[in-house]
Amino acid sequence: MSSSVFFADIRSRDEHSSLVSKVRDLFTVANLPAGISKGDRTAVKLHFGELGNDSYINPVFVRAVVDKVREAGAMPFLTDTNTLYLGSRGNAVDHLETAIAHGFAYAVVGAPIIIADGLRGQNSVRISFSGRNIKNAMIAGDIAAADSLVVLSHFKGHEVAGFGGAIKNLGMGCATPAGKREQHAARPFSRMELCTGCCRCESACPAGAVRVTEAKASIDKASCIGCFECMTVCPSRAIEIDWETEIEPFLERIVEYACAVVDKKKKKAGFMNFLLRITPDCDCVPWSDTAIVPDIGILASDDPVALDAASFDLVNQQPGLPGSFLESGSRPGEDKFSGMRAWTRSDYQLRYAEEIGLGSRSYHLVTL
Ligand code: SF4
Ligand code: SF4
Repeated sequence: MSSSVFFADIRSRDEHSSLVSKVRDLFTVANLPAGISKGDRTAVKLHFGELGNDSYINPVFVRAVVDKVREAGAMPFLTDTNTLYLGSRGNAVDHLETAIAHGFAYAVVGAPIIIADGLRGQNSVRISFSGRNIKNAMIAGDIAAADSLVVLSHFKGHEVAGFGGAIKNLGMGCATPAGKREQHAARPFSRMELCTGCCRCESACPAGAVRVTEAKASIDKASCIGCFECMTVCPSRAIEIDWETEIEPFLERIVEYACAVVDKKKKKAGFMNFLLRITPDCDCVPWSDTAIVPDIGILASDDPVALDAASFDLVNQQPGLPGSFLESGSRPGEDKFSGMRAWTRSDYQLRYAEEIGLGSRSYHLVTL
């Protein structure tokens, strides 16, 4: 069955067609308030951006969503979970400091922030799930405890998943660090013949698992936590995982976690994707590269799979931007995500999500 995905472009010539107005309008026409009951404690799940990153969702758009949740009679709170790696969001104190530094203060966004898995990621709820890979998903306690959920996602590329949108924000983004570790079961290895010994991987590794000796990197798999930071920073593509055997189970685990998160919130979750500043990497990296395609707009739906499928298609319909990270696939209609990283399998994320009932890849786009 086809799902409705509502779309607003980026053009604006007066205050009624500003992007902030469009966020409010999308929330209404996509009927996201239908999932929110009076008195709900509504989790607004987003990503505050790693310190140094500046492509996360603009807090003024988040404020527009918060106001709409309040109009529905609910009490919104902004939320995210602690990261697997150290960085600037590895515990709730650092995470809150980062969120405030990035403009998510109460005075701006109109809602409190709760880091959903607690100070050190131990506020965890086990949700049983009979997936191919996951039997007990470890979900952040305060996301599980919320009455309803609004998931705001910056749609962009990802080193291993291909793209990150609503599905990844649900699956990886709502898991505790232990849950993230379970999903990141893949371990990378270095390709000596490509390594130049620049040591960037060694500096980036949060687990001390990389050693560069005699200008060659090696990875201790026993210490590795599978965060893929080394792959992201390597300028020589000298670090890889076994794409033949690891990529599909990795995507399956993300999708199964996403299902576990919404399983207990049937009809109580809504989703918005922001196709603005579509960078090659996720907002977990402490930088933001130039966009790979022009800004497109904002989408909303109650179906995260249809929403990501529509976002994926809209990005691919664009021409690639010269001077960006794109290596191929620049023509309109070509896959931009495999044009950056030929090994990724974006389509598999969507296919598996549909296969296990998270939503439908079939959608009809309703333009505001
Ligand atoms: S070796 Fe790479 S994937 Fe493993 S913990 Fe270090 S940075 Fe993360
Ligand atoms: S970042 Fe890449 S090139 Fe540099 S040392 Fe590590 S593996 Fe080698």
